[in-house]
Amino acid sequence: MSNAYELFSTGATEGDAFIYNPKGQITYTYEDFEKITGMYANFLREAGLNSGDRIIVQVAKSPECLMFYFACIRAGCIYVPLNTSYKSDELSHFIKDADPSMILCDPAQIKQFRDLSHAKVVSMDSNGEISVDLRSFDSQFKTLYRSDNDIAVIIYTSGTTGRPKGAMITHANVKSNAITLSKYWKWTKEDVLLHALPIFHIHGLFVAGHLPVMNGSPIIFCEHFHPRQVILSLPKSTVYMGVPTNYTRLLSRSELTRWSCRNMRLFISGSAPLQAPTFEAFKQRTGHTIVERYGMSETGMNTSNPINGKRKAGTVGLALPGIECRIVDDNNDDVGKNSTGNLQIRGPNVFKGYWNMPDKTASEFSREGFFLTGDLARKDNENYISIVGRSKDLIISGGLNIYPKEIEDVLNQMEGIEESAIIGLPDPDYGETVSAVIVKKRESNVTEEEVKSFIKEHLASFKTAKYVFFIDELPRNVMGKVQKNILRKTFTEQLEYSN
Ligand code: AMP
Repeated sequence: MSNAYELFSTGATEGDAFIYNPKGQITYTYEDFEKITGMYANFLREAGLNSGDRIIVQVAKSPECLMFYFACIRAGCIYVPLNTSYKSDELSHFIKDADPSMILCDPAQIKQFRDLSHAKVVSMDSNGEISVDLRSFDSQFKTLYRSDNDIAVIIYTSGTTGRPKGAMITHANVKSNAITLSKYWKWTKEDVLLHALPIFHIHGLFVAGHLPVMNGSPIIFCEHFHPRQVILSLPKSTVYMGVPTNYTRLLSRSELTRWSCRNMRLFISGSAPLQAPTFEAFKQRTGHTIVERYGMSETGMNTSNPINGKRKAGTVGLALPGIECRIVDDNNDDVGKNSTGNLQIRGPNVFKGYWNMPDKTASEFSREGFFLTGDLARKDNENYISIVGRSKDLIISGGLNIYPKEIEDVLNQMEGIEESAIIGLPDPDYGETVSAVIVKKRESNVTEEEVKSFIKEHLASFKTAKYVFFIDELPRNVMGKVQKNILRKTFTEQLEYSN
């Protein structure tokens, strides 16, 4: 019996800073952290919450909300963070599914949540002010023990199809992934993390939340991602974590220079594919090679490019120590090096299953206990893994498998193209046909014919796009993932309409 919280209350010594605001002022020390999580934990228990009770949290990002998270696991409750953009229909699904005992929401949402649920509703505003007199609660709290297999967090996966599913993350999952990453990325107490990610997703909550806290190192806490604010904070930081679109936005600012990055040790990217041109441009501009890693809500982080070894553009690096990544065909046989197949993961980081969905859970694991990620991937001769796309985005045209990323990589190198997304659209002859959705660079005159010829010049002719669409911006979710389901729907309708 233990509690993942114990991992996070070590590392710091008296007076160590926990949170700096972007102006460089200490807003909380680690002693504050210990006391405030103690007060929140006492509040939760005194409010009648028991071990295993769910707490839904949908509030603005604040250091207080981050501490509330640690307090929930400290008190043995299950933390259920929700994306702040979810609306009423989605919220009622989460409430029905998670059946929470408490909801922490923005003050403006109290009524909505009261109408949706019988749970106790408490508010926290964007300044981290909670609607409870915290001072009336003792700051000493004896962390409650849970078994390693008990749930610490339920993360609803972004789910581009169907209703989001609640991934049950155990205390053991939380601990193992934090320890593995901290060692692999050689985190020390001297590191300073620049935190500008949302904290309702594993990237900002687990990766960027756990590593500094377990090492007692400080966080420069930005409530939102503002490229200028991030660049101004870089000289005081050693580690930055972002999604690929954060990196392209940083690159669009002339203030990003070698000098601004002079104290940085590590830039990390994940949650969506980092394009090779972005990786190269960042290296040229700053002298830093971005470390790309790969993970998902159900597993935490699975792979990473190394700290000391080669960091390869377009790859997500090597399997992390203790984590098995196998790439197999539809019969679960290994496809070998340099072949594309289904990526499956086994290890202490892999979640317990989907909340309330035993059948779905059973169908997402192989007989040998590997989790079926739904990602297509390939291993090179040195075991570096490349994510080729989601299997549901695979295009099968005339019986041939076409991996969108291969075509996107070619197009993203073409003069005049900012970025691209390749999707399959229904076709009466071939089943599906390749279609390219293109965002042009400003003042580019690139044409449909040029796009088609460029693909033909570089790849087999069956990979050429039958349709080319130009749009201003690719639809992305908040973690920077291109929402191909939206593109498929939009352009299928457009084709039906024009036929
Ligand atoms: P989520 O559960 O929302 O974190 O989404 C997980 C999915 O994001 C994975 O299954 C991948 O499809 C994708 N993903 C995460 N990191 C990367 C990466 N570095 N490159 C490509 N795809 C990624």
